[in-house]
Amino acid sequence: MVNDVELKVARAAKGFMPDDEGLALHEAGLDGGRIGPLLEIGSYCGKSGVYLGSAARAVGTVLFTIDHHRGSEENQAEWEHHDTEVVDPRTGRMDTLPFFRRTIEDAGLEGFVVGVLGDSPTVGRYWTTPLGSLFIDGGHAEQVATADYEIWAPHVMSGGVLAIHDVFERPEDGGQAPFHVWQRAVSDGFTTLTAVGSLRTLRR
Ligand code: SAH
Ligand code: MG
Repeated sequence: MVNDVELKVARAAKGFMPDDEGLALHEAGLDGGRIGPLLEIGSYCGKSGVYLGSAARAVGTVLFTIDHHRGSEENQAEWEHHDTEVVDPRTGRMDTLPFFRRTIEDAGLEGFVVGVLGDSPTVGRYWTTPLGSLFIDGGHAEQVATADYEIWAPHVMSGGVLAIHDVFERPEDGGQAPFHVWQRAVSDGFTTLTAVGSLRTLRR
């Protein structure tokens, strides 16, 4: 269960994850976390990391969460998901790392959440640890989302859970890249588990 402090901190954190999707993500973390560690691509300010980190705490594993903290294309100025509060005034570049750190601290999850600061494909090139659960929520451009799937999905253990965020079947509801990743996962043999809002989960 997500405890009261975690829920309060997750709700207050900046991010893109409604409660019902966060709780479904937590379930995916509990499920996959029983067989191995959790890994998230796209930490942003730690909101989804609290739901997953809470699951890691509950089952005695850890969440690795990767982000360069410079924002995706869609988080930059002039784009829909831009937030001027996360811009470093010194450089004018985005920096969500201080927000992420505070969220995980406030949630009491520093013992269960390992922030990995870097570019997802670069980290992936050196990664070898099998995963119980993988959550893909990094850049949503077609090549970026596809690269994340191709690099990280092979690490999901048999019986493990893959979660994909921002899956919209209809173009009028949102970008199509995460939906294409979901289709790809299905054709690669992942079986569908749940769909809550734009969050889809599948089992290897
Ligand atoms: N999961 C978060 C939201 C993530 S937003 C939540 O629900 O609260 C997407 C994040 O992906 C951004 O913080 C951005 O910096 C990160 N990102 C985009 N491309 C990346 C890449 N190639 N490597 C690492 N992080 C990346
Ligand atoms: Mg998202």
